[in-house]
Amino acid sequence: MSKLLIVGTVAFDAIETPFGKTDKILGGAATYIGLSATNFNVPSAIVSVVGNDFPKENIDMLAKRDINVSGLEIVKDGKTFFWSGRYHNDMNSRDTLETQLNVLENFSPVVPEAFKNAPVIMLGNLHPLVQLSVIEQMETRPKLIVLDTMNFWMDIALEDLKKTIAKVDVITINDEEARQLSGEYSLVKAARIIEKMGPKYVVIKKGEHGALLFHEDQMFFAPALPLEEVFDPTGAGDTFAGGFTGFLASTEDYSFKNMKKAIIHGSNLASFCVEKFGTERMEQLSKEEINNRLKMFKKLTQFEIDLA
Ligand code: AMP
Repeated sequence: MSKLLIVGTVAFDAIETPFGKTDKILGGAATYIGLSATNFNVPSAIVSVVGNDFPKENIDMLAKRDINVSGLEIVKDGKTFFWSGRYHNDMNSRDTLETQLNVLENFSPVVPEAFKNAPVIMLGNLHPLVQLSVIEQMETRPKLIVLDTMNFWMDIALEDLKKTIAKVDVITINDEEARQLSGEYSLVKAARIIEKMGPKYVVIKKGEHGALLFHEDQMFFAPALPLEEVFDPTGAGDTFAGGFTGFLASTEDYSFKNMKKAIIHGSNLASFCVEKFGTERMEQLSKEEINNRLKMFKKLTQFEIDLA
């Protein structure tokens, strides 16, 4: 049986969008990845850290979905990672208002014994040295290591990030971050440069404009499902990553061909995430809703064309 090991923040977020504002609510890269990946038939575990201000109900909610939380450390007298952001009117761009690392500052991750042989690791957004430490704790080299990161870490830990990127198979990154990391405006050129840093596959997320997959001279594009209403894009990238890796781990096929399907599953799940604030929508999702929307995706992207 395959396994998926997930690393990333488990957090409090405060979000402002043109539709409203939240106080501290449940968020974090690993939370979204885990909630998304549980939609596939694969055991998963989260490695992360929270403070003692973190409600037990949130941990129970993850555990109830069969996510192994034995690697989620609770620091007594510590405060949980906090992020706040404000979205612009187009909802495609946002400003980070505040990032409080808190317990993340001195975090040494411990991979649960039962997951040291996991064939797939999803290194969600957090300090690149924490991501690296997780890779180093694995007993056998995983079949697929996927890394997600953001501009915050490029700004404060670029050399550590490059060291970690060199060890992964796939990087998922948004368009602006791909430009920042590569120094190239063209996403095609940016992907080529990033491939030279280590990952054989580069996924560039373009928010409501979909996602691109690059591998050597091959390229694949999947649109985002056009939605009538987007309430809160927070976590869409992580939900995408959870769907991408959850599908790949469950199928145990890490080929370019199967990655195309994984991108569709990731995009499909991300389309739900943005419909409500925070994790709310992902906590309520049914198999039937997922399948119906996959059918819409298929219809949206399939066409016949006669070639002369
Ligand atoms: P996304 O919208 O998919 O890019 O991810 C949003 C999530 O990332 C939020 O729930 C935040 O808690 C988390 N986050 C924000 N900044 C950071 C950071 N510097 N490191 C790790 N996680 C972060």
